[in-house]
Order: sequence, then structure tokens, then C-alpha cells
Amino acid sequence: MIDASAHYAPAMKLSVPVRILLGVLAGLAVGLALNAWWSPASWAWLGVNDAAAYLARTDAPANAQAGVMAGAARLAVEATNFTADVFLRALRFIAVPLVLFSLIAGVAALGDVRRLGRIGLRTVSLFVVTTVLAIVIGLVLVNVVQPGHMVSEETRNQLAQARQGDVAARQTQATALAEQGAAVWRMLLSAVPTNPFDALARGDMLQVVVMALVLGAGLTLLPQDRRGPLVNLCESINEVFTKIIHGLMWIAPVAVFCLMVRVAAGLGTEVVAALGVFCATVVGGLVLLLVVVYAPLVWLAGANLWRVIVGMMPAQLLAFSTSSSAATLPVTMRCVRENLGVSERTTSFVCSLGATINMDGTALYQAISAVFIAQLYNMDLTLGQQLTLVAATTLSAIGAPGIPGGGIVVFVVVLQSVGIPLEGLAVILAVDRLLDMFRTVINVTGDAVGAVVIERLERSGGHADAEPALPSASKPD
Ligand code: ASP
Repeated sequence: MIDASAHYAPAMKLSVPVRILLGVLAGLAVGLALNAWWSPASWAWLGVNDAAAYLARTDAPANAQAGVMAGAARLAVEATNFTADVFLRALRFIAVPLVLFSLIAGVAALGDVRRLGRIGLRTVSLFVVTTVLAIVIGLVLVNVVQPGHMVSEETRNQLAQARQGDVAARQTQATALAEQGAAVWRMLLSAVPTNPFDALARGDMLQVVVMALVLGAGLTLLPQDRRGPLVNLCESINEVFTKIIHGLMWIAPVAVFCLMVRVAAGLGTEVVAALGVFCATVVGGLVLLLVVVYAPLVWLAGANLWRVIVGMMPAQLLAFSTSSSAATLPVTMRCVRENLGVSERTTSFVCSLGATINMDGTALYQAISAVFIAQLYNMDLTLGQQLTLVAATTLSAIGAPGIPGGGIVVFVVVLQSVGIPLEGLAVILAVDRLLDMFRTVINVTGDAVGAVVIERLERSGGHADAEPALPSASKPD
């Protein structure tokens, strides 16, 4: 990879992942400190009695006493939000064209539609297997730990009441979804674009993936002299985006700092404490998934999970601070290609498909959450109901968009599939944002593991190209 640190003075020579890690840690520390010590009384001390109006810059008589210090505090809030949002927008700006052009070039370079069919089948099968394994791990863990039986009825009702409105809004969205037809058909149909420009403009990643696959496959049918210029163009555009990603990594430490301050300052720490066992079960399950599923898979592919984790660090830290695997996609692809040594083709295919349909962390989280809510309401789930949960959660995780809280709307449908009380959703919403950070890291790691495994399969299938070695031998940045 390009060593951005080469432009620094020697005294500041820290690698990109280390600088991003420092940004995350510093942001966490500042955000948690604000969370603990900054309150409405702090605003009042600065002459601001209606903080919401003051931050929105609307005139309010209650804020007539606001002075220079209050103005400085507001400016700090605005600058933090601005930096975080600019970074998120830049990542989103790259994601759609990057997927489009890298996939077209990748598929066209396969040179044979049958190869596309084979890699597609392998990738989708692998994703479904890891998703189901994640759900099984979640179900076993939540049945053993029983976190729902460790929350008092009083706490449950308090938390449920506080978020009733949010649940109602999600329920309306879920009903609208259900009215569009059965989940599997709806999902398959929504992947088929009717207008390529509309799919691009809306940034509908699944449709963009399908469109790029079709265009790439179409290109393989052209003679080399007609195909070549277009493939070259796609590759050149790809390189431009790769350069932009390298540039973005420069501001990433500051951006993740701002993202983390924002999230940590707004965390409801009391709720997290009340649901501590539930949160620990989810995080424990995610770690278990790494050890029990990902490590053996990577090992079978002749690689080493630790190297994969170290190589994916920039993407994982971004996933943690943005809670969005779609926004992280450009960096995921860069890390998989440059740090794990996976070929351009496999990377573009597996990662862009993975960011849309492979969400192992989300699947595990939803399985645990569903049974947790059932336990909260003293509802015993039969084996049959738990099996229904496996099927419903698999579909839900496949259909969830890679954005913060993306899985929740589809999760309503999961709860309904086995008749779990929807009020319970309000309880987990309180900690959803926090757990989203952890599950998104696993969603991104799962895509990287998928890419390493598929790359190995492709190479052993006699289609090895002059590509660098897989992570057992390569040196991450
Ligand atoms: N935030 C997750 C992701 O982007 C999706 C979810 O579980 O809500 O991967």
C-alpha cells in the first residue's frame, strides 16, 4: 500500500491504522467525559437555558444571556458534526462508483461467464453458511446465558415506555414492507434494477451490484478489441478512486475522533448498565464467531486470522466509528486487496456483494435479541419457533442495508414471525447504537474472511494469477 506516513516528519511516523486507533480512543475518552460531566446545567452556566434552540441557531429568549464561551462551545459542536459528516459523505461518494467500476472491470477480466457463475455460487453459499452459523452461535449463547431473565420487570417496562414512539415508527415501515409481498420474492425482485441511472442515483447497492455484474458479463461476450478500451477505462476510474481513498485515510484519524465524540457523548450509559448482561452476551457471541467460525475458515484457506485482523484494522476501526458497512466498503476493499493480498477481481466481487448481503454480526445480534425479548416477556420459544427464527433472521440479515441501525426495520418482521411482543424492541433500541458498532466490525470482517476463502478456492481451481500471497505470508500495512 501507499505509505502516507512517508510524507510526515520522522518524529510523527505512525502507521495509518495506529493513527486511526488513536483517533478512536481519544474520541471515546472525550465523548465519555462529556457524557459524564456535560449536562443542561453546564449550558445554563454559559447562559444557555434552551440548548436545543441554541444549537439549532434559532432565537429563544431563554438564551439571551449566552456569551462568548457558549458561542465557542456551539462552534465546537458544529465543527465536530461537520468533520464527521464530511467524512461520511466522502465515503458514500466513493462507494457506489467504486463498486460499479471495479465490478465491471473484475467480471470482464474473468473472460468467461461460467467463471462468474462459479465464483458467484461459491460466494453466496459461503455467505449463507456463515450467516446461519452466526445465528446458531447466537441462539446457543442466549439460551445458555438467559440475559432476559436478569432484567427486572420494572426496568423492562421503564425502558419499553421510553422508546414506544420509535417502535411505532418502525412497525409502520415493517407493515409497508410486508404489504409488498413475501420476504424472499420481495428481496429478489428489489435486487433487479428497472433503471440503471435510478439505481445509481439512489445508491441502491444491491441493484448497483446486479447491474455491474450484468454489464461485466455482457462485456465478456465482446471481442477483445471492443472490450479492451472499456475495461481499461473502468480500471483507470478505479485507480482514481483508490487514490481518493488513500487521501481520505489522511483525515480519517480526525474524522473518527469526531464520530466517536458524537456517539460516546450521546450514549445512555445508565441503560447500558441495566442491560449489561445482554450487551455482554452479544459482544461475547461476536468474539465466539471470530474464534469458532472465522479462524478455522481462514486456516483452511491457508491463512492466519490474526494477520487478517491486523490487515483489516483501518476498515474495522472505521466500521466501529461509522456503524455502516456500506460507508466502510471503499476502505474494506482497499485493505483486502493491499493488506491481505487478495486479487482485484475477488475483492471487488466478494466485498461489494458482502457489504450488501453478508451480515454475520447483524444475524447473530438479531438472533440473540429476539430470544432476549422473548425471555423478557417470559415467553418460552419451542424448538420449532427457534428454527423459524433461524430462517427469518437469515433473510433479515441478508436484506438489512449496511447503514447504522439498518437491521432494525427488518427485525420487526423477525419478531412478528414467531409472535414475540414488539414492545420489547423498545428495550433493545436503547442499546442498539452501541451494539451496532461491534456488529458492524464483524460484518466487515466477515466480508474479508469471505474474500480470503474465495480467493484460495479460485487459485486452487487453477485460475491463479500473478497476485501477491494471502495474509499468512504478506505483510500488512
Ligand atoms: N450497521 C450494520 C452495518 O452497517 C447493519 C445493522 O446491523 O444495523 O453493517
